[in-house]
Amino acid sequence: MVYCVKCKTPNPPTEAVCKQCGADLLPGTSLGERLGMLGVMLALAVVGGVLAVAGFRSESLVCLGLGGLAALSGVALLVFGIAYAVGKTPVHERHLLRARRHLDLDPQQAIDDFTRALELTPQALDTVRRSILKERGALYQKLGRTAEAQADLQLLIDQTTQALDKASPADKVKLLKERADLYKKLGKECEGTRDRLDATYAAEAAMSNKNYKPGTAVQAGAQVFGVGGGTFNEAYAIESRKQEAKHILGERLALLKAGRIKAIGFCRKCKAVVELDGELRCGTWPKHGKPKEKEMLFVMPEQSEETRQMMEQKYNPPRRR
Ligand SMILES: [Zn+2]
Ligand SMILES: [Zn+2]
Repeated sequence: MVYCVKCKTPNPPTEAVCKQCGADLLPGTSLGERLGMLGVMLALAVVGGVLAVAGFRSESLVCLGLGGLAALSGVALLVFGIAYAVGKTPVHERHLLRARRHLDLDPQQAIDDFTRALELTPQALDTVRRSILKERGALYQKLGRTAEAQADLQLLIDQTTQALDKASPADKVKLLKERADLYKKLGKECEGTRDRLDATYAAEAAMSNKNYKPGTAVQAGAQVFGVGGGTFNEAYAIESRKQEAKHILGERLALLKAGRIKAIGFCRKCKAVVELDGELRCGTWPKHGKPKEKEMLFVMPEQSEETRQMMEQKYNPPRRR
């Protein structure tokens, strides 16, 4: 139930206006928040302006360029601040605000508002939709309504799957890890493991993309402070690729040691494709050591035989007589 502030009439939980007097029942962004945001944006715009003037006075082309950038950002921040201060808060956000205010006071009211917010959020705002589902699911869980909480988890998995279809390589890594956590919560360990493994391959794919830009913020910062230049950026890119590769290997080894995945590799001494142990070595005594990284694959247990045969064809094709 929502009580009207003006006439005190109780209204059904999803109502947006009072059925008695027509007063607005949904909270919006408060005047304080609006003015606060405007103030912050104004201050940042002033900083942008100062930087722009300094840039335009300089003779170096880089400073001139940065000055232009500062001027543009200043204007953009100012426009955003004004739009935020006078703009209307979308209806789905207002239901969301009201839901969050009722989490403890009236959980059923909160659930009804989350549901209404979900109905009103445009399909295109898929990140917002997922975050509403997460909040509603957490509330169901807290209230001990397990079946509904699990249904929300499943919906969240479906939406993450949809988002994966059109995600960029970098977003794919993030979404796969998110979905892995959701599967784990549902007790679907196997699907979760598969997503974790897929995330490592997605991360490798993202790295091998020629547009891969590690730590763009650090590079931009280095340029502003004048330590930039091609050599710095290249060295930085090489270093961060190394770090990322190390991280990926660490995740795979953790899954391997937990017995959730298998590692298959071509052992040059055995001249055969073999299953590798927890240290990625061929198990044949005396130890044959590790195959080359390019000649090993990490797979789900049920894929190991199929993968072994596929790699056998590739690295050890049957000789013609
Ligand atoms: Zn009223
Ligand atoms: Zn071997």
